[in-house]
Amino acid sequence: MPVKHPTNNICPICAVEPDTVRHFFVDCPLKFVFWQQAFSTTFTTSSLSSDNIWDLLHLHITDGNRPWSTHLSHIGLILQTIWSMHWRSVFHNLPWHPHIASQFYQNLLSRHPFVSSRQNTQNQFGAQLPQ
Ligand SMILES: [Zn+2]
Repeated sequence: MPVKHPTNNICPICAVEPDTVRHFFVDCPLKFVFWQQAFSTTFTTSSLSSDNIWDLLHLHITDGNRPWSTHLSHIGLILQTIWSMHWRSVFHNLPWHPHIASQFYQNLLSRHPFVSSRQNTQNQFGAQLPQ
């Protein structure tokens, strides 16, 4: 992808920051807003930092006994949304729009057979984020 669609090392979404892996998934300001929205919808918390998200993606979480499969499914759908919306913007020259990203994510959630309802995930995740 980077060879076929060079970006001159500048993020094509915000057009400001260098396009690193961490920026691609977490630090791009527009994507970070989406992370906050997705977390507030799914886990009833939006008070997380980009470092929290990055640690989460590296599974730096201090809770060895919790069944993480549901949480990881949500995070997988968030990552799928970021990936799809990123390349939608690049290939179709469309701006990143948080509302469209949220709709895409909600659509994925509604069709995912292994993601439990919001009631089952409330108050289980926010307190477990790394400090
Ligand atoms: Zn960016």
